[in-house]
Amino acid sequence: MSESLTIALSKGRIFKETLPLLAHAGIEPIDDPESSRKLILDTNHEAVKLVIIRASDVPTYVQYGAADLGVAGKDVLMEHGGGGLYEPLDLRIARCKLMVAGREPWSEQAQRLRIATKYVHSTRAYFAAQGMQVEVIKLYGSMELAPLVGLAYLIVDVVDTGNTLKANCLRPLEKIADISSRLVVNKASMKRKHARVQSFIEQLGVAVRKQEQAA
Ligand code: AMP
Repeated sequence: MSESLTIALSKGRIFKETLPLLAHAGIEPIDDPESSRKLILDTNHEAVKLVIIRASDVPTYVQYGAADLGVAGKDVLMEHGGGGLYEPLDLRIARCKLMVAGREPWSEQAQRLRIATKYVHSTRAYFAAQGMQVEVIKLYGSMELAPLVGLAYLIVDVVDTGNTLKANCLRPLEKIADISSRLVVNKASMKRKHARVQSFIEQLGVAVRKQEQAA
């Protein structure tokens, strides 16, 4: 019997774009998370399970060993800090940019600039590196609204096409980081299940390179 593996994924874009990579590693889920209410999905391998959780919880599940592996956006990993995790592979999926956006550029002299975001740590670190102390307001969604109603001057959010910003009269101002989804691995699982985990990483790596070449 092969060694068990639990892989943490979030629904939506990450799940859809990870599926072809998993298929290349011979793993196919039996249930569809978009229609099933199950949080643990069986796969064609008895020993391999998928746990379906919120994107921002993936690093936590993997850090504590509740999942051996996971797929998480670099935005989420930057915010989590990466403790207890290895990040061996850039899957090059769900790509976007973490951006500062607003109605107009800010002045360097601005005192206590107010910024609304769910990326509190990344925002503080980015402005601190520019020698600016900013006031960060934590939001859980719809950041684009904040400058429109005077809650904040700027936002920090992930941007793909920029259409959401444009629809809300905002502009991308500065790029904080390029974002894509990464494979993360629990440090203890990497030791205890080394051969199984390593071969999984290698199979995914081949799938990523094939997908890149085909694009
Ligand atoms: P946009 O294409 O810029 O209008 O993006 C629409 C919204 O989707 C943004 O406000 C983001 O919150 C979200 N989004 C876009 N790309 C990603 C991604 N790769 N990961 C997570 N959220 C995303």
